[in-house]
Amino acid sequence: MTDRLYYHDSFLYTFEAQVLESFERNGRHAIKLDRTAFYPTSGGQVHDTGKVIIDGREVAVTEIADEEDGSILHFISELVVSGKTLHGVVDAERRRDHMQQHSGQHVLSAAFVRLFDAGTVSFHMGAESCTIDLAVKSLAPKQIQEAEKLANEIITEDRPVTIRFVALEQARQMDLRKLPPREAGDLRLIDISDFDLTACGGTHVRSTGQIGAILVRKTENVKQGIRVEFVCGLRAVRTARQDYVTLTEAAGLLSTHIYELPQQIRKSLEEAKNAAKAGQILLQELAEFYAERLLSETTGTPRLVTRVFADRDATFIKLLAQKLTAGKNDVIALLASGSGQPTLVFAQSPGQKHNMGQLLKETMAQLGGRGGGSADLAQGGLPAQTTDLKTIEAALQQLAAKLKS
Ligand SMILES: [Zn+2]
Repeated sequence: MTDRLYYHDSFLYTFEAQVLESFERNGRHAIKLDRTAFYPTSGGQVHDTGKVIIDGREVAVTEIADEEDGSILHFISELVVSGKTLHGVVDAERRRDHMQQHSGQHVLSAAFVRLFDAGTVSFHMGAESCTIDLAVKSLAPKQIQEAEKLANEIITEDRPVTIRFVALEQARQMDLRKLPPREAGDLRLIDISDFDLTACGGTHVRSTGQIGAILVRKTENVKQGIRVEFVCGLRAVRTARQDYVTLTEAAGLLSTHIYELPQQIRKSLEEAKNAAKAGQILLQELAEFYAERLLSETTGTPRLVTRVFADRDATFIKLLAQKLTAGKNDVIALLASGSGQPTLVFAQSPGQKHNMGQLLKETMAQLGGRGGGSADLAQGGLPAQTTDLKTIEAALQQLAAKLKS
């Protein structure tokens, strides 16, 4: 058993201890001490990091883990021999952040119980944000805001947070928010004055004011209920700052105030939709115009239209091919586009004797592309940048000559 100094004082960042064991675990150096202020990963809270100083040498402490026998494992960056005394230094900034998140979780969980009888079934602390899973089917956005408000009121009141040790039997008589399933020895209770009493082994602030603030970010449905994501203290400030920077940049793009963003985005989307519709109509009209002009310039039977459009894309030449051939009985269109991926579209008026799918495949084989289609309409793409439009034009002319003869 390692004596857990953080059990009694979460603000103890330096300590002296003796190295009881030194060994390798999965290729990493590890030590066990007689006492430690380093917190191991457990109960949803992430482990501490820091350093140990031994014989004037600083060695990094990279991870802390609980062992089944009640001892604590310290993973360190270099070998440290057993039997010596060392000086431990916990990374205070990281610990303070963890205390803010973890204590904030106690307050938020208690707020959800008080207001909506929604108990917390699990807690997760991530590098960016934390989550709790609530055993409840649904919560309205207004209820989430109410819980956030109550939690922040408790923080503002700066209520004392105290640690107590009681026997399990005694704890059963108390109105605890959460009892651990089994526990050897006394239970460690965390008491937020007149608001929350729960069993917990983590590190906590001394009074709720040290949490700073709680900001609920989002909720989602999960198997066991509702997952609530939140950030506390300096993380809440960082997150709010990042949100503001993002919103300001977005608002700048639309030359509006951040609070007007949803309205402006809706307006812009509507405008974009209308512009796309208008563009579609223009494209149809343009294709009809081209079809009429190209057919008027064409003589002989069948009427053969061969054309490369350097500045048009696949959508346009496909539309044009349909306009050229539909409702006619003697048109063959061999079209190519150069905008985007170079594309070929072959089409004939329905029921003519040629097989456009087959002809396109043959032309593609010659030009180094892929494609296919039906007897009346076929389409294929060529590798972008590697295809010269003059080569395409020559291939189309060659095929046209063959079809005329
Ligand atoms: Zn706790």
